[in-house]
Amino acid sequence: MSKAIVSTLYDSDVFKMACRQFDKAADAINLPEGIRDRTKYPRRCLAVALPVKRDDGSITVFEGYRVQHNLSTGPAKGGIRFHQNVTIGEVAALAMWMSWKCSLAGLPYGGAKGGIVVDPSKLTLTELEHLSRRYMQEMVNFLGPHTDVAAPDVGTNERIMGWMMDTYANHVGHIEPAVVTGKPISLGGSQGRKEATGAGVAYFVKKYLEDLKIPLGKTTVAVQGFGNVGSETALALQAYGAKIIAISDYTGGIYNPKGINIKKALAYVQYAKVLKDFDGGEPITNEQLLELKCTVLAPCALERVITDQNAGKLKCRIIAEGANGPTTNAADKILDARGDIELIPDIMCNSGGVVVSYFEWLQNLQSYYWSRDEVMEKLYVILDRAKESVEYQKRKFKFSRRLAALTLGIGRVAEAKAARGLFP
Ligand code: GLU
Repeated sequence: MSKAIVSTLYDSDVFKMACRQFDKAADAINLPEGIRDRTKYPRRCLAVALPVKRDDGSITVFEGYRVQHNLSTGPAKGGIRFHQNVTIGEVAALAMWMSWKCSLAGLPYGGAKGGIVVDPSKLTLTELEHLSRRYMQEMVNFLGPHTDVAAPDVGTNERIMGWMMDTYANHVGHIEPAVVTGKPISLGGSQGRKEATGAGVAYFVKKYLEDLKIPLGKTTVAVQGFGNVGSETALALQAYGAKIIAISDYTGGIYNPKGINIKKALAYVQYAKVLKDFDGGEPITNEQLLELKCTVLAPCALERVITDQNAGKLKCRIIAEGANGPTTNAADKILDARGDIELIPDIMCNSGGVVVSYFEWLQNLQSYYWSRDEVMEKLYVILDRAKESVEYQKRKFKFSRRLAALTLGIGRVAEAKAARGLFP
C-alpha cells in the first residue's frame, strides 16, 4: 500500500477538513490506492514576500501565496483572497475545492487559489494598487492563460483584477486578458460575471424550493456575509420574490421579519463601508443569524461557521453554501442525522462564479463577446446539468448531497490523472 510522505506545510483545520472530505469521498467510490494521494495533495505552490511603499513613505512587507492543486484537467483556476487571517493551509484547501468545483461543472480547468495576508480595508487605494501589482509581478512566471487563471475572491474585486491583468500584460509585452477573470468590462470582463456567484446561488435555491414545493412568496432568507456573494445572493432572491429577513457582515447583522430592502442596504454599505448601524432592522449577532427560523440560510462569508456547536440548533429548511467550506465535517454529520435540512453543497452552490469566469476566459481567447442574456442562459444550462448529475448520484448510491457532489468532482479528476500518467 502506498502512503504519501508529506510535511506540515499546509497543516491547518481547514486543510484537514478538505482532506477528510476527500478521504470519505475516495472511500465511498473505492478510488484505487495508487491514484488517491496524487489526486488529493496540491501539485505545487509559491510563497512570496511583497514589499509595498506606504503613503507615509514607510515600507511594509506582506506575504502572498498561490497554490495550484491540480493541472491535469486544464489550466488551474481560482480566486485570490485578501484577508488578515489567510494561511497557506487555507489557500491549499480552497485550491482543492476549486478542483472539485470545476470538475463537477464540467469546466476544462484544474484548481488553484491565491491569497495575501492583509486586511485590505486598512490600506489606501494607492497602497492596495501597489500590493496587487506586486503580487502579480511575483506570479508572472507561475500564472498564465494556459497555466493558471486568477479571479476575485474574498477581499478582492474587479478593480484589483484589472490592475493584475495590466501588470501581467506589461511584463509579457502585450495585452493578455485571459490570465485573469472578473475584470472590469472595459478590460475584457464578461457581462454577468460580477453577479454570477450570487445569481447561481439564488438559482439553485429557486430550483430546490420548486422541488420542495415551497413558493418563493412564502420563502424567508437569512444571508451571512454581505460581500459580493452575499449581497448578490440577497438581491437575486429578493428579485425572485423571497423575503430577506436577515443580513450580516463581520461587524454584525440586521434582522427584520418584515423584510430588508437590500438595495438600500447596499447603498448604505457603499457609503459606510460596513453594515453596522444600518437602520433597516434590529441588530443581531452573526451567531444569532445562523440560528434564525427561516426557509433558507445562506452562509456567504468564510469557512467553518456551521459547526457541531450550532448544527443542532439551525431552524432553516435549506442551507445554500455561497461560501467555500462553511460547514465543518462534524456539523455535516449532525445535519445528515437530522435529515430535515436540504444542504446545497459549496462546490455546486457557488459554482456560478467560476462558470462565468470560464465564459470570460473563452470570450477573451476568442476576442468575441457575448450579451448578458447569452451569458446567463448558458450559465443556467451548466447549473441545471450539475444539479441533475448530483441528484442522480445521490439517489443511485444513497449518498448525502455533499458526498454526491464530491464523489463526482473527485472521480473525474482522478480518472483524468489515471489516463495521463504520473507527471501532470
Ligand atoms: N473565488 C471564486 C470561487 O471560489 C471564483 C473563482 C473563479 O472565478 O475562478 O469560486
